[in-house]
Amino acid sequence: MRCGISRSSCQGTWSRSSGDTRIEVESVFTSRIITTRRFPLLGYASRLLSRTEVAQDTVAFRFERPKDFLFRAGQSIDLTVLGVRPDGSDCLTHTFSIASSPFIEEILIATRIRDSAFKRALSILPLGTHVNLIGPMGSFSLHRNTSKPAVFLAVGIGVTPFLSMLCSAAVDKARHNIFLFYANRYLEDAAFIDALWDLESSNTNFRFVQHSRASTALHGDGRVKLAIFDARCFPNT
Ligand SMILES: Cc1cc2nc3c(=O)[nH]c(=O)nc-3n(C[C@H](O)[C@H](O)[C@H](O)COP(=O)(O)OP(=O)(O)OC[C@H]3O[C@@H](n4cnc5c(N)ncnc54)[C@H](O)[C@@H]3O)c2cc1C
Repeated sequence: MRCGISRSSCQGTWSRSSGDTRIEVESVFTSRIITTRRFPLLGYASRLLSRTEVAQDTVAFRFERPKDFLFRAGQSIDLTVLGVRPDGSDCLTHTFSIASSPFIEEILIATRIRDSAFKRALSILPLGTHVNLIGPMGSFSLHRNTSKPAVFLAVGIGVTPFLSMLCSAAVDKARHNIFLFYANRYLEDAAFIDALWDLESSNTNFRFVQHSRASTALHGDGRVKLAIFDARCFPNT
């Protein structure tokens, strides 16, 4: 058993133990919906619901949200994929920001698909497969003082916690002025770009400034120019 999680057999249960505490969930091979049970040290059982390409080599994974899993926009989870090896003896864990808002019934994460053991396993995980979530973790979230603007700087897949905060701010009708500067080498690498433009058009307090080689080609010599940001963020100056 590695990392405290094992899948005992195809017909049996997954179990996790910590000291004298033990939690069991139904096997991935049963067709019944998993009953999620919470234990603070051990996390939550969940299932993969869908995967969608959101930019080049970048995939968003939608997971079942356990009923009592509460989080603040901007927080992260440890995601464990169980039984990665054919004999089911292995598991792999990575940390991901939650990209969805706390107001929806699912948990979305997104990642660049690279040739690592974890991402190979995640990319081919059959829909419905059970995974383990630990969290939420972190205190990276939108500040409460609405008189202070929020300025987010994101590169590549680092946009995920900001997407969660922006979706949440839209539902909450948060009064903060929010600026998101989002840089990618190429426009096709920019994840959730349509959703971010939609958020900008629906929230007058939010300014979205995306930057990539394609966008700089329109503006000059290929270097990031603050003037571009100024024009988008402060049109009257
Ligand atoms: C709070 C938090 C939030 C995060 N949110 C996200 C998110 O939303 N999306 C996301 O994609 N990622 C996120 N991450 C990062 C994520 O946990 C992974 O680390 C990342 O996705 C890389 O995983 P990987 O499997 O591609 O690489 P890994 O196999 O985990 O390797 C990580 C790096 O180490 C290098 N490396 C690995 N093994 C060796 C070795 N033996 N020698 C030298 N170098 C080596 C790899 O080349 C790679 O660059 C987050 C991390 C944290 C801490």
